[in-house]
Amino acid sequence: MFNKILIANRGEIACRVAATCKRLGIASVAVYSDADANAKHVTACDEAVHIGGSTAAESYLRIERIIEAARATGAQAVHPGYGFLSENEDFAHACELAGIVFIGPPVEAIAAMGSKAAAKALMHAAAVPLVPGYHGDDQDAQLLHREADAIGYPVLLKASAGGGGKGMRVVERSEDFAAALASCKREAASSFGNDRVLIEKYLTRPRHVEVQVFADRHGGAVYLFDRDCSVQRRHQKVLEEAPAPGLSAEIKREMGEAAVAAARAVNYVGAGTVEFIMTVTGDFYFMEMNTRLQVEHPVTEMVTGQDLVEWQLRVASNEPLPLTQQQIRIDGHAIEARIYAEHPARGFLPSTGTLKHLRMPEGVEFSIDAAGLGTAGLGAAGLGESGRKAPVRIDSGVREGDTITPFYDPMIAKLIVHGATRDEALARMNRALHACEVVGPHTNVEFLQSIVTSEPFATGDLDTGLIERHHDALFAPVTKPFKEALALACAALLTREGGTAHGASPWDALSHWRLNSGYTQTLGWRDVENDTAFTVSFARDGSTQTLEHDGVREGFSWSGGAGRHEFRATIGDARATGRVFVDGDTFHVFCLGEALAFEWQNLLAHAADAEGGEGRLTAPMPGKVIAVLVEPGAVVKKGEPLIVMEAMKMEHTIGAPAAGTVSEVLYAVGDQVTDGAQLLVLNVE
Ligand code: ADP
Repeated sequence: MFNKILIANRGEIACRVAATCKRLGIASVAVYSDADANAKHVTACDEAVHIGGSTAAESYLRIERIIEAARATGAQAVHPGYGFLSENEDFAHACELAGIVFIGPPVEAIAAMGSKAAAKALMHAAAVPLVPGYHGDDQDAQLLHREADAIGYPVLLKASAGGGGKGMRVVERSEDFAAALASCKREAASSFGNDRVLIEKYLTRPRHVEVQVFADRHGGAVYLFDRDCSVQRRHQKVLEEAPAPGLSAEIKREMGEAAVAAARAVNYVGAGTVEFIMTVTGDFYFMEMNTRLQVEHPVTEMVTGQDLVEWQLRVASNEPLPLTQQQIRIDGHAIEARIYAEHPARGFLPSTGTLKHLRMPEGVEFSIDAAGLGTAGLGAAGLGESGRKAPVRIDSGVREGDTITPFYDPMIAKLIVHGATRDEALARMNRALHACEVVGPHTNVEFLQSIVTSEPFATGDLDTGLIERHHDALFAPVTKPFKEALALACAALLTREGGTAHGASPWDALSHWRLNSGYTQTLGWRDVENDTAFTVSFARDGSTQTLEHDGVREGFSWSGGAGRHEFRATIGDARATGRVFVDGDTFHVFCLGEALAFEWQNLLAHAADAEGGEGRLTAPMPGKVIAVLVEPGAVVKKGEPLIVMEAMKMEHTIGAPAAGTVSEVLYAVGDQVTDGAQLLVLNVE
């Protein structure tokens, strides 16, 4: 086994690999870009080497620089993670030349699987089932057209060198073929520098089912069963699970064996994934082989109880596979959800920004904490269901306070759950998603909740068109506990503005408060999600507090606010406990499993600002002065209440537009004031 390895990656996968190294007593070296100088993966490793600028091209894709870092730190091997250089044969080759072990398959196997057409030819020879189609060398346009006609429409045109769905064209009719071919070739040439195409029968409502394989240098090759990754958006996986639901033991075995045959056909070594496309009737066909560890590998770890990174390290250091095919068992069901900083409703556009508040559900992070590992994914090994202490696992490369930048994949975390059955895992996933709290970038958490609770997903009716077909239902607005969340937001605001921690009455803290009679304050809010402004009136009469919203006045009380943003509020008959994270004037409320945000519209401060600018305080409307809270000479903070007016049967507090010293109070209690009248003079600091 190695003593030290370099991890040529970043984010959650670099942290994930580092965790296994730590557990096995292997020293790990991180590499990092400018943008990642303080990233979590840097602290997760024992050493770190700066390799360049923030873009991937300037850092994580620089082969020479990474090899140099491995040499300089004495790393014996390089783990490429996924993405970046993980399937780059030049990188694998450069490692070989430098005498550093590439933790992955041989260069030839990467090359063989790099071309879809060449891989298909190899698979055909190995009797691995292929989608009916054409993947020949002859690229004559007329010949391709005849082949498409013979396959029967619809057909799918793919760029042989393609990936990420680029260049793919569905052709419905023979008349459309020539134009689609030309456009596929153009995109293939510009994206991959190679315009070779292949044609496949286009399957309707297919499933994406893949098989995890492993091979060693001693002739051993096994499969660690299947995963279903049908739930995709823009051909990218969103939810993955193991095992693939609803498949007979016979199909599973056939797929597993076909996947092993595929690996053997290219003399594969290490971890690989053979992706199949499956018809409604259960026929499956080879799509491609990914010659690396996949993002979704944790679901396989959860059900098999194996640490696949450990397997990779063992195989790379020439050990035989840890288990034989017969020894590999499946226990229960696991589901992974990818939590991204993105806008599902805006075509899944990435979102960026600082993670001001980040709280993931209870679980064990696959982190450097070796003890924690023992009860997480790994720990599933041999523990059995009763000993499985952590059915929720979080793999994340970011912490609260970190920034999601535009430079890399905007993934925040992978949330992986395990259950004895699919239903149990599903229920756990639902609960776990409802416990995720993110303030900062927009996320897909709510969208994931919608999918997980949707009828097709819940019943396992999976296919790659699920999201598109159920678009309207998945994007339908969810009913949220508005009243409860609003009560919590008001509690947090009143606590903050009143300066008290326990909310008995925010105004008790203001020693100059002299009113004995009732008191009403209008709180202006904006519902951030729906961009609607509304007001709530808070009233206090003796020890009775009420809140009026939408024409209904109800009893209101609250407690909390100290420590970790926890509040409890009662409004009418409703009670709510939740957390309020305050970001400036935006109150992010997490309660009853939902996230809501309200922005405080400081109506009076705004009015004062707008009227006279700094130093002038004017009446926002005609009315009567009912309390003067300051005397000349008072030093006040921004927003501090100065004068209370009554107008239209409501009381309005005039707050200081800025910090300063009150030099003159122009009205006394009982005075009538006209709209716009200056009430006092403030010397701004
Ligand atoms: P890429 O390498 O560009 O990602 P793949 O060949 O892996 O392309 O296919 C990506 C996705 O496209 C699959 O997961 C599946 O959803 C869809 N797809 C691929 N081939 C077919 C086909 N023959 N019929 C229907 N859908 C397909």
